[in-house]
Amino acid sequence: MDLQTKNATATVQLGEILGSKLKPGDVVLLDGDLGAGKTTFTKGIARGLGIKRPVKSPTFTLIREYQEGRYPLYHMDMYRLENGGSDELGLEEYFDGQGIVIVEWSQFIQSELPAEFLTIKLTKDPADDAQRTIIFEPTGTHYQQLTTAVLSAFHHD
Ligand code: ADP
Ligand code: MG
Repeated sequence: MDLQTKNATATVQLGEILGSKLKPGDVVLLDGDLGAGKTTFTKGIARGLGIKRPVKSPTFTLIREYQEGRYPLYHMDMYRLENGGSDELGLEEYFDGQGIVIVEWSQFIQSELPAEFLTIKLTKDPADDAQRTIIFEPTGTHYQQLTTAVLSAFHHD
């Protein structure tokens, strides 16, 4: 299930729809190269959760927490864990908790991921700087239903 966004605003809008439908304990993995739009998409998710504080990239802090929305949001960027070191972060507490976890560069913590999650792949369009292809790859019934709900809401916008 994939779609295109024409600019960053549309990617934020899609994220906002997802954020408005997320439930406690949900885990979303954002795949894509540097600059693909993973953090931009997360800004929309935060907005959909009612978070007003600006979302900044957690590249250096690894995890940023936002407590003022409908549910806690944990935004992770595991890029710096390319060579390991995730065992000291206590990640299972986040994944087993009642917050919402968004992970950029989840391939570096593959062994710590839960059984089910929603993977969203973002890719740049080589012919158009502002266009992205966004692919939803849900695992399990819950994330399949969530994907259907998000995509139908986005198309009817
Ligand atoms: P990542 O977290 O994947 O490294 P960022 O979200 O930090 O990427 O950066 C994406 C950049 O691309 C931002 O500057 C954003 O404004 C720009 N951009 C242009 N078009 C889009 C689009 N359609 N969707 C998302 N971001 C876009
Ligand atoms: Mg980022």
